[in-house]
Amino acid sequence: MSFAINLRCRKCGQEMPLAPTNLCDFCLSPLEVNYDYKSIAKAVSKEKLAAGPTSMWRYRDLLPVEGEVIDLGTGFTPLTRADRLGKELGLDELYIKNDCLNPTYSFKDRVVSVAISKAREFGFDTVACASTGNLAASVAAHAAKANMKSYVFVPSDVEASKLVGIAIYHPNLVTVEGSYDDVNRLCGKLVEKYDWGFINVNLRPYYAEGSKTLGFEVAEQLGWRAPDCVIAPAASGLVFTRIWKGLDELSMLGLIEPVNTHMYVTQAAGSSPIVNAFQAGTLHVHPVKPDTIATSIAIGNPADGYYALRVARQSGGGACAVTDEELLTGMKLLAETEGIFTEAAGGVVIAGLKNLVASGEIKKNELTVAFITGAGPRTQQIVADTVQPFKVQPTLESFKEVLGAQI
Ligand SMILES: [Zn+2]
Repeated sequence: MSFAINLRCRKCGQEMPLAPTNLCDFCLSPLEVNYDYKSIAKAVSKEKLAAGPTSMWRYRDLLPVEGEVIDLGTGFTPLTRADRLGKELGLDELYIKNDCLNPTYSFKDRVVSVAISKAREFGFDTVACASTGNLAASVAAHAAKANMKSYVFVPSDVEASKLVGIAIYHPNLVTVEGSYDDVNRLCGKLVEKYDWGFINVNLRPYYAEGSKTLGFEVAEQLGWRAPDCVIAPAASGLVFTRIWKGLDELSMLGLIEPVNTHMYVTQAAGSSPIVNAFQAGTLHVHPVKPDTIATSIAIGNPADGYYALRVARQSGGGACAVTDEELLTGMKLLAETEGIFTEAAGGVVIAGLKNLVASGEIKKNELTVAFITGAGPRTQQIVADTVQPFKVQPTLESFKEVLGAQI
């Protein structure tokens, strides 16, 4: 069973039944899942949570799924102490939350596992999504496991290597001539026409809840405490808000002390509507036309931008945009110091962190967690310049000739 009671409008507070819908009937603002926290508080304890499965589903009591879950083994990914990178950046206590290690190599497995489980509960036989690539791969993989049909929509300029990582699960893969924002608009029309569970449209309130597990896991892995600082990338801004919500819920349930975490959001400068708004001192996000190699977070009109800005402000955090050149340096630095090959979004996080430490916003002694939300191999061509092998013949002489001087 689940402790979810209903859906509640994030703006006007109107309550609606748990159904596949994402917008308030009254004010058209986004809905979120509302829980019976009193009953959750009685049901959960640190001991019970720690004895659960080593996946995101150890926090099942805080998620909105009633029946059987569709799970590929997602979550409870490593929280790695990153001393080498910390030293480079000037931080004493830096941790990496490494969500490259999910079944389809990004945090999207968390949101999809919840949303597709709900889709089946609601009786859908087909699921769909608008995606920049990672979400489509995750939806396709989960649909395969669940024996459900899937239609996944991506912009036609998505990298060929990403398309393979989607197509292998044999979904109905649809490439759309246009940007992600165009794909999203098309899906907004399709959801009216077809009786499908759109993972990030009509199932969005449930989808959103999956990201809370990032916050839960980090707090538990730190020995039941919230970090001093969190830094995470933003596309729609949703995961950023849900990391915060995860920490806040644990505090509300008395599992951790009151949360004083400063939340820092990072974007690529070529697609940084949320950071622009933060720096302009407004909560109003002006859409932009994305132009960056960080394609997985290139959303020009972020659905949760307003809420991400509120979290950054209210938590005493901040926002930082980095150039494509800086994010490439960030990707390489993370790989060279901590052995983690992230996609461009992770490079945005590391480069943003570097800037925030250099400017003194994040202090040396603050326990900081950097969220690396996706793996690098799918878009490896952007760092192909790292390939500079020593070329030798299969003889000792040749080896000595080429490398002898540096050994
Ligand atoms: Zn409303």
